[in-house]
Amino acid sequence: MQITKTYPSRLSEIDLENLGFGEVFSDHMFSVEYMNGEWTLPQILPFGKIEILPTLCSLHYGQVVFEGLKAFNSKNGINIFRPEKYHERLNKSCQRLCIPQVSFDMFMEGLVELLKLDRNWIPRKKGYSLYIRPFIFATDSFLGVKVSRTYRFMVVTSPVGAYYKEGFNPIRLMTSGNYVRAVKGGLGAAKAPANYAATLLPAEEAKKKGFSQVLWLDGVEKKYIEESGAMNVFFLIDDKLVTPPLEGTILEGVTRNTVINLAKDWGMDVEERRISIDEVISASNEGRLKEVFGTGTAAVISPVGEIQHNNTLITINGKKTGAFSQKLFDEITGIQYGEKEDKFGWCYPV
Ligand SMILES: *Cc1c(COP(=O)(O)O)cnc(C)c1O
Repeated sequence: MQITKTYPSRLSEIDLENLGFGEVFSDHMFSVEYMNGEWTLPQILPFGKIEILPTLCSLHYGQVVFEGLKAFNSKNGINIFRPEKYHERLNKSCQRLCIPQVSFDMFMEGLVELLKLDRNWIPRKKGYSLYIRPFIFATDSFLGVKVSRTYRFMVVTSPVGAYYKEGFNPIRLMTSGNYVRAVKGGLGAAKAPANYAATLLPAEEAKKKGFSQVLWLDGVEKKYIEESGAMNVFFLIDDKLVTPPLEGTILEGVTRNTVINLAKDWGMDVEERRISIDEVISASNEGRLKEVFGTGTAAVISPVGEIQHNNTLITINGKKTGAFSQKLFDEITGIQYGEKEDKFGWCYPV
């Protein structure tokens, strides 16, 4: 690997005790180019501008995938949470978008070198972490729809605080009557910017109405719940945990998997099955809907306090964070910060 260090560090300008999400970027970035059928020499460079042609094909046709994972400055040193899972998903996304795969060794080598170099950028404050953003984009220069022959894989990192300005307070979701996010056979299960492009307008409309996000329903019957924003969703009905199944339209969240593993380990029934918005409303009317929460790397657990569907607004757990959501949040962050036993081996030491 070729390493070009920056000097002086910009860290002195940053308050690591007072951060938003994704607004500041660490000193260095990782970059490797793909050409003639192989990944070339990996590099670490000072974070900064990159030069591209206006005819860069990914700008025009969207052949791009990304990931989002976190590193923690824990009691036991620096760790990355479940990098194998994120790497696996990156390659699944690549496969769907005709982008060449990235080996686990190259992925980890890039991450580890970057973290070692920018170790002082990893916040120590509880609730804070270093967000890691790997992404791959097509770099051929042409106009016309076809698969690119060249690519660039990059990793940037960002010290972050809470994802939602609400912090760990419940958010409000609404279904959308006019829009869908994904359909079977589409890109829904890939972590690709194209999915987000489709959701910007509906999310803006929801925000204008006072909601944090859209709760997506399936694209065919507009009946079954899918996911929300950058989160998978869970429903605690009676003592059962229910979450939509992986049928190709929603993202296979790593946090979703973490929650399912923990809940099963605690002896709970977890059902990965279709759940309609009507079932959720009925469960709420019958007093059986105990909690609703979203899961994602950025926010970990996001309690949901209200859901609006057509003319019905349901309130969950008196708009307060539920005990189960809190327990999950405490357990996952406890493992990440080295305060709780990591019995599943999720923390990858750097
Ligand atoms: C990233 C993402 C999630 C959450 O996945 P995690 O691996 O838990 O971060 C959920 N839905 C979408 C659409 C996403 O892009």
